[in-house]
Order: sequence, then structure tokens, then C-alpha cells
Amino acid sequence: MEETYNLMAIILNRRPFAEADSRVVVYSRERGKLDLVARGVKKIKSKLAGHLEPLSLTDIMAVRGRQYDYAGAAVSENCFFNIKNDLAKLAAAGQAIKIFDKLIKPGVADEAIFDLLKDYLEVLNFKKSGFDVLNWFFIFKLLVALGFKPELYNCVNCGGKITPAGMKFDLARGGLICGKCRAEQGLTISENAVKLLRLAERDSLEKLIKIKIDKKTEKETGKIITDFFHCSV
Ligand SMILES: [Zn+2]
Repeated sequence: MEETYNLMAIILNRRPFAEADSRVVVYSRERGKLDLVARGVKKIKSKLAGHLEPLSLTDIMAVRGRQYDYAGAAVSENCFFNIKNDLAKLAAAGQAIKIFDKLIKPGVADEAIFDLLKDYLEVLNFKKSGFDVLNWFFIFKLLVALGFKPELYNCVNCGGKITPAGMKFDLARGGLICGKCRAEQGLTISENAVKLLRLAERDSLEKLIKIKIDKKTEKETGKIITDFFHCSV
């Protein structure tokens, strides 16, 4: 008898494999990131193909194989139709998934990360604009979940409590430096950006996208998160 296991998974990407098959990379709640072979998916009549489209949330029955595990059956739970039918959303999701795939190691299950990715797709699916902001909130939360949590409350130099005057964000040391330490290195950071980063650590994406952010703070925070991402990984 074949050994099988069930997965609730988000399809990250799919590429051709052998003649009629595909190789599907998924992030599952049960087993984290893994690679499955989907047989015959390139055939027009394949029943599996539609359910294994990238950016779908799919219930998969996997079959253990000698060389590769296979997707034996798949039923999509949510195909995030609004993302797939909007080029701007699709571009945003493509960028987020690419970073996600790069940061996540295979075979490590983490329910919080699964939920974050699922939340991201759900929010993007219904959101009308502001996809950039959603993306950097997602990337920031992902970094925090992976252990790259910046220090936002105490000075990374002296350990003192952070007060707004003269504070800076030190990318190399991963957190704020207080005004008293008079750091020469580090990015100047506004009080609003710090508040936003603190909220981003704590709140869900659904809650975060409701915050009214002025253009200046949006630009500043986006740059800090991008720099922090490049410095952390
Ligand atoms: Zn200090």
C-alpha cells in the first residue's frame, strides 16, 4: 500500500518537470516548505493542474515516492481569484512570494509563518490599493517571525530606554540607538516610523493596512524595512 499524508498548503511556484509532469513548491501548515511532483499536470485534461496553480491555498494528499513525493490529489480551498486577475496585485504577490521562497528553508514547519502567508494573500485579494505598503509589512513580519527582530524599545548600544530625541536606527546592530549615545552611524528615524515598526511587530496585516500613514512616513518606513531586510539576510 502506498504511504500518503495530507497537507494544507500554499502553492509557491510550479515548473515543468520531465515530459508531462510538473514540480510544485509548496508551503504547508504541517511540514513547511516542500517540493512535490505533480504527474501529468501539463496535459490539458489534467484534473490536478487547476488546483496546483501558484498562489492557491490547496488541500493536498501527497504520496511518498522512492525518489520524489507526489501530489496524488489536490482540491483548492481558495484560489485568490482577485489576485490572479489583477496585474498589479499579481506583481506584488510575485515579489512577496519570491522573497518568501528565498528566506524559508525546506522542511521546517511553522504555523505562524503559514498563517502570515495565508493572511497576506487574503488581504491582498481584497485590497484595492497600497500593495507596496502591504508588501513591506509582510516582509517585516516575516523577518520578525524568522528571528530577525529589531530592538525597538531599548538602545542597542547602552541598553537605556529609547526616547524620540536624536534616536537612530542601526542596521548592522539591528535596532535603535538612543540620542544620548550620539551615534554617528545609523539612519535617522522619525518617531512615527518607530511607532509604525512597533505596531508592525505586534499587529495582524489586516489591522496594519487600516492605519492611515502619511506619504513621508510611508516612504521612510518602506526604506528602513527594505534596508533592514537586505542587512538581515
Ligand atoms: Zn544609548
